[in-house]
Amino acid sequence: MTSTRHDHPLAHELPPPRTVEVADGVYAYVQPDGGWWINNTGFVVGERTVLCVDTCATERRTRAMLEALDAVVAARARGRSRVHPARLVVNTHHHGDHTNGNCLVAGATVIGHALCRQEVQALGIVRPDGLWETVDWGELAPAPPFVTFEHALDVFVDDLRVELRHVGTAAHTTNDVMAWVPEHRVLFTGDLVFNGGTPFVLMGSVAGSPVAQDRVAELEPEGVVPGHGEVCGPEVVDVAGEYLRFLQTTAEQAAGTGLTPLEVARQVDLGRFAALSHPERLVGNLHRAMAECRGTRPGDPVDVVGALSDMVAFNGGRPLTCLA
Ligand SMILES: [Zn+2]
Repeated sequence: MTSTRHDHPLAHELPPPRTVEVADGVYAYVQPDGGWWINNTGFVVGERTVLCVDTCATERRTRAMLEALDAVVAARARGRSRVHPARLVVNTHHHGDHTNGNCLVAGATVIGHALCRQEVQALGIVRPDGLWETVDWGELAPAPPFVTFEHALDVFVDDLRVELRHVGTAAHTTNDVMAWVPEHRVLFTGDLVFNGGTPFVLMGSVAGSPVAQDRVAELEPEGVVPGHGEVCGPEVVDVAGEYLRFLQTTAEQAAGTGLTPLEVARQVDLGRFAALSHPERLVGNLHRAMAECRGTRPGDPVDVVGALSDMVAFNGGRPLTCLA
């Protein structure tokens, strides 16, 4: 276990992560409060195979998650011969809160979209001190997916099929993958869904996001494990859709005014969307939305560091809260 000397004082007030059984053998690992860099993961557990959906941002959080996974595996193996199941990790996208811990899942086959591999290789372990509050990331090394796909890949946990699907467009990022368990109608969405949080499309697309939301809704999942926030149903995409339409309209109205995304954000009345956590994401979202108004295509590069710096400016010049 690593030192906690850099932990945020408020981090100790967060409730501990919980393992939630969503269906037989299908679990959400929910990390309160779902804020910046505090993601959900998931487990699909069989006797011969274990699939882990994403890892965590820090060494400490990932090790705690692996202890929770081991506890589930041990509980399910009760009374039966002990086997060491094959371990698979699928990354829902390249962001560090979902991939930094890959290196700690010993012996795992790491799966993801081809562009997820590219991004993790390019970015390495991101320690965004200055943009976010400093935390103890621990000992981490980049471990990008080494089994990759473009459109879809089925993996089997014993005989239970898990369908990995790219959403077909940039949305939250360029490489968003959903993990769908059709037998139990459970969907792991990664950050295509933030339950209770503001959508964040700076590294993806405003125009592509409704397409991704349609993909979620078409599956008619009974249980949705979002990338952040509590386990929910598919109705949460409705709020995100309304926010994105509001974002689109705001960007269109700003086009030609000469205002920067930060200046637009400072004038916007978020209305009921102010109740979503992380309203400062508006600034990054406007960077993407206004670029798309100028012809930038979904997922094309934008000045991410500049946009994140504007989010810090919007936050009164303070680094964004990070309790990871
Ligand atoms: Zn993300």
